[in-house]
Amino acid sequence: SKMDGRGTWRFFEPAMDTSLQTRRALEIDLREAMDKDEFDLFYQPIYDLRMDRISGFEALLRWRHPERGMVPPDQFIPVAEEIGLITPLGEWVLNRACAQAASWPNELKIAVNVSATQFRDPRLAAVIAKALDTSALAPHRLELEITESVLLGNSAETIATLHELKARGLRIALDDFGTGYSSLSYLRSFPFDKLKIDQSFVRDVTATKGSKLIVRAITSLGKSLGMTTTAEGVETIEQLNQMKAEGCNEAQGYLFSRPVPATELASTILSLRNG
Ligand code: C2E
Ligand code: CA
Ligand code: CA
Ligand code: CA
Repeated sequence: SKMDGRGTWRFFEPAMDTSLQTRRALEIDLREAMDKDEFDLFYQPIYDLRMDRISGFEALLRWRHPERGMVPPDQFIPVAEEIGLITPLGEWVLNRACAQAASWPNELKIAVNVSATQFRDPRLAAVIAKALDTSALAPHRLELEITESVLLGNSAETIATLHELKARGLRIALDDFGTGYSSLSYLRSFPFDKLKIDQSFVRDVTATKGSKLIVRAITSLGKSLGMTTTAEGVETIEQLNQMKAEGCNEAQGYLFSRPVPATELASTILSLRNG
């Protein structure tokens, strides 16, 4: 028990204690998960709206915990970052994604999420070069998705790494676009290939005028800067039609397909081809 501000004794919230224990248990399990082969990559199709076909897949990390079942990445990736595990985990993701994508038809790209901590690792460019080399995947088929947090501080090193990766032929996408605080200034410091419009705007695009206008502004901004735009989290045909009308190049979301395991890729491609 503990004295609180008003001078009365109270016990620690049991809920708080539990969440702390849960968190510690999560850390311990996370450190062992790689050796135990509990991670997997799922793939979600990215649909080219003009060509009317799948242009590639985004790799999304999954953790099959033996007792907890599927742990969502939003729950364990921040922990992996904090405990210094994101670099080896991110390396595993890059290797696995490149190896699997190398067996796909040549026109299909693979998009891989790279966290801010992982991006700041000075070995990143070498890790990527090795993943490409080992898999024999052509660099132009690999797209890195980074968020604005990577660009926080706008350091010369970050910009140099981005230029280096782009010079090697990789494509760079700015993820969750529109959710950060100073998105527009970042667009001056680096020529991204793609802006991924955050699903919060896409969700409301048919309901609120504000979201529609923001989507319109982002697509036209992208166009004038020579960047393509991708609508994230498209769930309904109405959202899709609106995003098309605003000139979005690509769309991704449950309307097309949920992220699927590698074994279901072929059937996902087929079912989208047949409408
Ligand atoms: P993200 O990169 O923005 O990925 C999109 C998220 O939206 C995915 O969640 C995806 O399953 C989900 N999504 C796709 N379509 C729809 C839709 O129509 N409706 C809704 N409601 N959601 C949709 P997921 O797989 O849970 O991943 C969450 C986040 O975890 C990702 O957000 C990304 O930031 C991070 N993440 C996932 N895999 C990796 C990875 O390998 N490395 C790193 N650093 N981060 C990853
Ligand atoms: Ca992403
Ligand atoms: Ca996103
Ligand atoms: Ca997100």
